[in-house]
Amino acid sequence: MIEAVRRIGDYIQDNKGGEDSLYKIIEDPDSNGKYKQVLVVALKEKEGNYSFSHVETQEFKEYTKYLYKGKQGNALDATPTSRITEVNKTFKKFLRWFDNYDNYPLSGEERESIRRMGEAIKAEHDKIQADLQDKFSRRKTGESSIITLGFDDGVNIKYLSDISIFRNVLLNKGSKGFSNKYGVESIGQDKMCSVCREVKAEVYGFAVPWSFHNYDKPGNISGGFEISESWKNTPICLNCATCLEAGKIYIEDKLDFSFYGFHYLLIPKLAIGGDIQEILIILGARDQKKEQKLNQEVEKRLTADEYDILDIVAKQNDFVSTSLMFYKKDKSSYSILLLIEGILPSRLSRLFSIKDSVDKRFKLYNDIALSESQKEKNHLVFNFGVVRRFFPSESAKGAFAKRSKNKTSDKMFMEMVNKIFGGNSIDYYLLIGFINERIREAFDGGYPTNVDTLFGFLLLHYLNDLGILKNVTSEMDNMTTPSEGDLSIEHLEGLPLEQKIKSFFESNEAFFGSDAKKAAFLEGILAQKLLNIQFTEKRATPFRDKLHGLRMNEPLIKRLLPEIQNKLEEYKKNYYRELEGIIARYFILSGESWKENNDDLSFYFVLGMNSHKLFKDAREEEVIEEVA
Ligand SMILES: [Zn+2]
Repeated sequence: MIEAVRRIGDYIQDNKGGEDSLYKIIEDPDSNGKYKQVLVVALKEKEGNYSFSHVETQEFKEYTKYLYKGKQGNALDATPTSRITEVNKTFKKFLRWFDNYDNYPLSGEERESIRRMGEAIKAEHDKIQADLQDKFSRRKTGESSIITLGFDDGVNIKYLSDISIFRNVLLNKGSKGFSNKYGVESIGQDKMCSVCREVKAEVYGFAVPWSFHNYDKPGNISGGFEISESWKNTPICLNCATCLEAGKIYIEDKLDFSFYGFHYLLIPKLAIGGDIQEILIILGARDQKKEQKLNQEVEKRLTADEYDILDIVAKQNDFVSTSLMFYKKDKSSYSILLLIEGILPSRLSRLFSIKDSVDKRFKLYNDIALSESQKEKNHLVFNFGVVRRFFPSESAKGAFAKRSKNKTSDKMFMEMVNKIFGGNSIDYYLLIGFINERIREAFDGGYPTNVDTLFGFLLLHYLNDLGILKNVTSEMDNMTTPSEGDLSIEHLEGLPLEQKIKSFFESNEAFFGSDAKKAAFLEGILAQKLLNIQFTEKRATPFRDKLHGLRMNEPLIKRLLPEIQNKLEEYKKNYYRELEGIIARYFILSGESWKENNDDLSFYFVLGMNSHKLFKDAREEEVIEEVA
């Protein structure tokens, strides 16, 4: 991870000079077009010692040369470049900048350099001041001047932007930021840098990009180290620290994506022997998407971020591995929730291709099991939002989040994400519990259950096809059989009921490994048919109350069949004797003391309720309305 950031930093520094962020900070002292005269106080440098050379009048050049960043009133400007108000006053301020050396975020050596520059100017104070005064008075009428520091190398004048000390002061990222935190200094002397593996005069303890370690919680230091000894955990030299910083700034700028209430940083790393071109494609992918409006259709994405580039990473070869760092940002500090390292493009590609096949399979439900207004809001396709639906944010104000037994669902969500990317198994029963919780919430509130039920079923399919759903069925050999078969409305239509049912169970084989589940599912269909008839007749669905808030168990399911039959007979609308016969048959096959737990039975029952349209009977066509 650190190595990956360093390589990106290296690349940025070699190719862009790391100036991107600098240019955002520099201000134009001539922003009003009047500061045309530049008075350069030039020093000479010889073996680390400075002496005054001369004062030079110049025309205002490219503003970035002067590294100007102004402060209000009497406060020091960020660098020794200032707009002149009165020469004596401004020169005083200019000199004070050098006296302030101890407060710059620089190494001891660099701070000493600044102190010496100041001494060299003070040694010729009166002469310089008179010279400035003289040159200032000769500016053109109506023009203003700036004062800046320069370096005379005998041929040319170098400007502040040419000298790294001043760039670092402006970026506020000299060594001090790497060595000091919480008022504690953490510096090792003559020790090996953990990044470049060279022995360096100074190594620092706080140079790791983002805090992976627990430094951010004082008193919670890993390994029981004193905080001032933290450099021992990950000692990093100034050179490497600066490079990491450049990489970090770049990643935060270009490779930051939103993720269901969180964010993640995508950090690609090229294996030795890989083609740098692949990394460049990834580094530029988001900008390119923005420019060319290449964002894919919503349904094709794995996340809700319209500029998410996982699809592009997935197309690279396995020489590139990617780390995803999920975080939450509070004010300016990052709290890292999850770091997934070493995801290969082939893994991402699999996440997409399984999505593709599951989405195709669910097109049928999308077409016929959702109402028009539901279709507008929901596409029955997989993305991480489907996971989030069942593990919603704690901070979400919804009643569900409040009432859910699961009070750590942010954490659970992150765990699920980790397992999906990493290919680690997820327990079927755990998941079915959460899916049911969401469905019952809708049912208890009198809302349609179809959207949650079908998304739950889709998630089960997705995880099962990925091969990471554990304990999905009692028959071990069936455990990870991907579901197969073409289940389309054209295919089902015209088939006799028995065939439809057989075809459905075959194409969802992984989830219908037992006769009890099949019975629960088919009874769900029958129950919904009754509710539809009740609604048509009475504009109400009193039978809903008999479903016990979708908390099913074996005796209840067995008892419901005759109750439903009686009601249908009462209405003289029992078109479903064939279906009832099939259910009764599965009751016999399933025997007594089912091993399915109640959550399991409840889920397949409500799945049946919401799949009833797949099993329409010609005779019921006429006048029966549907109720959700
Ligand atoms: Zn180093």
